Amino acid sequence: QATLEESDPELANLIKKEKERQREGLEMIASENFTSVAVLESLSSCLTNKYSEGYPGKRYYGGNEFIDCIELLAQKRGLELFNLSGDQWGVNVQPYSGSPANLAVYTGVCRPHDRIMGLDLPDGGHLTHGFFTPTKKISATSIFFESMPYKVNPETGIIDYDKLAEAAKNFRPQIIIAGISCYSRLLDYARFRKICDDVGAYLMADMAHVAGIVAAGLIPSPFEYADIVTTTTHKTLRGPRSGVIFFRKGVRSTKPNGDKILYDLEERINQAVFPSLQGGPHNNAVGGIATAFKQAKTPEFKAYQTQVLKNAKVLCDGLISRGYQVATGGTDVHLVLVDLRKAGLTGAKAEYILEEVGIACNKNTVPGDKSAMNPSGIRLGTPALTTRGLVEKDIEQVVAFIDDALKVGVEAAKVAGSPKMADYHKVLEENATVKAKKDE
Ligand code: PLP
Repeated sequence: QATLEESDPELANLIKKEKERQREGLEMIASENFTSVAVLESLSSCLTNKYSEGYPGKRYYGGNEFIDCIELLAQKRGLELFNLSGDQWGVNVQPYSGSPANLAVYTGVCRPHDRIMGLDLPDGGHLTHGFFTPTKKISATSIFFESMPYKVNPETGIIDYDKLAEAAKNFRPQIIIAGISCYSRLLDYARFRKICDDVGAYLMADMAHVAGIVAAGLIPSPFEYADIVTTTTHKTLRGPRSGVIFFRKGVRSTKPNGDKILYDLEERINQAVFPSLQGGPHNNAVGGIATAFKQAKTPEFKAYQTQVLKNAKVLCDGLISRGYQVATGGTDVHLVLVDLRKAGLTGAKAEYILEEVGIACNKNTVPGDKSAMNPSGIRLGTPALTTRGLVEKDIEQVVAFIDDALKVGVEAAKVAGSPKMADYHKVLEENATVKAKKDE
């Protein structure tokens, strides 16, 4: 059979270029990573050919003898990785990614228009935690369910748990979501549990960003407190692009009056994933999840996560020592949120300038930002660079690169006033050339 190169040189060439971009640049998008060759092998294997709607032993198609074994293997390894007993916890490895996983939880646990509460997107939450703006319901999770976001304290950048507790008492949500896409501090899961118990809500932890660090045992695990835990498998966990849902089985007292809630989460969540929301699982990804879970149990993976955290601290301290403001004043995890309001740059401009010098990151709102459309910060993460072998001294050099680039950018912004992006590119180039000439 023809190779990709032979049958579609145009696409092969684009993939080659993307590979070069990934190899030559510095990848600092906090949600990205480089997965292993073993996971890539599973992703591009014959598993992609197979239909297997249903669950192991209960499929709607024949020929699933080995697919069943693979899905059961992924489930078993998932429970083992997070030290969960199969009597108390179940796991669904079929969600196509993190967003479908979250929607499946709400679909299984809530009725239409039941209430959910998650950290607001501009404050570090994710779209799927119920995001809407004053003029538009953006996420399907705010269209099909009623969402009331909670916020961080704009002064400290830390989640305002008191306000969340107060709002939850009035709003009476069915689910409270403890999860982040851009928040550099540990979550107080015990506090979330107490707030949920006071209002009879389920606690769902979305550990997508930190799952690898949790697996390595380096930060507190949400499993002690949560009823449901969702995650992606491609961020710090370094597996394939996919999603996983863990759910409690059995009985747990959640009402202040001691009433027991009988969990039937297993049936409700499995049913929500298939057949309510999805069709056949992506078995090549399920295989990749099994491999990623195996790899995440090794001492090498723990060493990797330890380095991710060390690198994030060096990144954070280095930026602070060069005069940059960092939201919450530090980091406990793999990411740093840089507040550029005093640096004279917007997040969009900083993202653009850094891209020009081969550093990939993303613009992000910072606590207290007036507009989510024009955010004042950038989010930087260390998982991908650490996979490539960078250690503390390398990150110090990366900080110097970032600082140099942003300084040139600030100068260009002064010359340009408030230019449009296209003008800005030109000015930046001219300015850099002028600077280089002067240096000569
Ligand atoms: N949950 C959190 C906390 C995330 O950060 C993300 C993605 O960045 C998701 C869910 C959604 O994952 P996906 O992009 O795979 O749908």
